[in-house]
Order: sequence, then structure tokens, then C-alpha cells
Amino acid sequence: MAASVSCCRRLSIGAQGKELLAAVDSFLFDCDGVMWDGARAIGGAAEVVSALKARGKRVYFVSNNCTRSREMYLRKFEALGFQVQRDEVFGTAHCCALYLRDTAGLRGKVYVLGSEGLCSELRSAGISVLGGVREEDEGLAVSECVLDSEVRAVLVGYDENFSFVRLAKACGYLKNPDCLFLATDPDPWHPLTGGTVVPGTGSLTAAVEVASNRKAEVIGKPSRFMFDCIACNSGGLDPARALMVGDRLETDILFGVNCGMQTVLTLTGVSSLREAQANMASDRPSQRKMVPNFYVDSVADFLPLLKD
Ligand SMILES: [Mg+2]
Repeated sequence: MAASVSCCRRLSIGAQGKELLAAVDSFLFDCDGVMWDGARAIGGAAEVVSALKARGKRVYFVSNNCTRSREMYLRKFEALGFQVQRDEVFGTAHCCALYLRDTAGLRGKVYVLGSEGLCSELRSAGISVLGGVREEDEGLAVSECVLDSEVRAVLVGYDENFSFVRLAKACGYLKNPDCLFLATDPDPWHPLTGGTVVPGTGSLTAAVEVASNRKAEVIGKPSRFMFDCIACNSGGLDPARALMVGDRLETDILFGVNCGMQTVLTLTGVSSLREAQANMASDRPSQRKMVPNFYVDSVADFLPLLKD
């Protein structure tokens, strides 16, 4: 099935749904808000993954959540009853490590604003890491901070310990035009149970961008780098026979569109059907790109299509 004009139709369990299933070999799923909601699996999600694999479909997980290494994702999938293999998991921590090691050929250290999960993934790829959860200069005046002359990249991720000193050090490194500037993902905020939100990597990256007068290269969705990571590590991925399933229009659905895949919005996470429909009705091309081909109430809506 060729990528068609997105029109945000409910995915039916009739001929339309079966036609889609037959036309797709590879399913790419976001995780937060799609496979699980916090510590709770989305009902039926594990069954969908198993049923797709039983039908010979390839399944990949593409998450902008940079706080988890591949190992941490695997432990979470296992704890929630999913049958998932290591080489099916593509989080931004893993993809940043691949970018720095293989694409950029980094020679030197990376200064990280982010979690231990991100740092451990970089170390596993043989990358030398500074910063992370341990900022040895915390509490010092900026003028007292010493910059490491071997740092060749600054990587901004989800950093709960973000501070003035970290911001200043990141900018100090970025004064060198040869120092790479990466961000794990553009997510501006994340929902918390109870309706509140926490700032996301995108808000921290914006602070570093303004203070350094530079623009970060984003590794996560909607950038297509994660698609290329899957294609490179799985013997190829044909976007015309791949489907992206996600809960966030400006990352998951735009990622699918950017990579030429068909897209499904699932309504168990961040974005609403009303927002998708507003994008569809908009005159602005940037919003028109954030319209899924289909929507489902939950990934469990795939189950009836996989029953016979
Ligand atoms: Mg999500």
C-alpha cells in the first residue's frame, strides 16, 4: 500500500484493517503512552507484540525516552510480560551512542547533561563520558569550573539535575566550533499522573541553544536517524512496508511521515484525536504533516485483526 494522504481514519477491524496488516512487514512502536503508561502495561499491548511476531512481522521499539539504556528497556519489557529481544529496542540513549561512535567518529570525550542510563549506554559503546549524574563542579562559581580540553561533544538529555553550572559548562565547551552539539530528543514536556507535567529534554536544550548561540542536532524522533539505525542494524527497512505507531503527533507521527511510513496515532498517551483533526484542518503545511493515517483507542485494537 503506497503512503497516502493522511486522513486520520479510525482503523477498522474489517477489510481496511486487514489490507493494512497485509501491506506492512515492520511495526515500529513508541513505548511511553503506547506500550505502557508509567509502571502499568497498556492492556493487550504484550499480546499484540506476540501476535505480530507469530504472523512473521518484524517489531521494533523506538523511544525518545533517553533515561533508559537498552538493558533497562529489556528489564521493563520483561517485568511487564512482553516478549522482546535486545536488537528490537532503539531508545535515544542507544542511538546517541551509535551516532557518536559510528556516524561522527568521535575522538575525545562527551559532556553529558542526563541520566545514568544515558551515560552507561555511551560507556558501553566505548565513549568517554563527563558530567551525567555526577557533576563534580556543582556548587562552585562558574569562574572556578575547569573545562576538560578533551571534550569534543556536548549531549543534552533529560537531566533532573540541570543547573546553572551545567549550563555554563556546556556553553564553555560549545565555544569551540569543532565541539559537536547533540540533543537526545525535542520533547518539550512530559505528562505526570494527575494532570501535571515535567519539563522535557527540549526545554533544557533550548536553554543551552540560547546561551551558546548554537543549534543542537536532534537524534530522536522526529529526526530520521533512529529509522536509519534500525535499517542499518536489521538488514534494511522499507518505509513503504513499515508502520509507525505512537501517541505524540509532533514526534511519533511526524517521524513516520518524515521517513515515508504510514502512521497510527494511539489515544492512550499525550496527543488527542481533536489535536490530530485540528492539524488536518489547518492551512499550515507544518501542521498538515502531523496527521496520522489512522487512529486507535489503544494498540489492543490491533488484536481482532490478528485473531484468525
Ligand atoms: Mg510516547
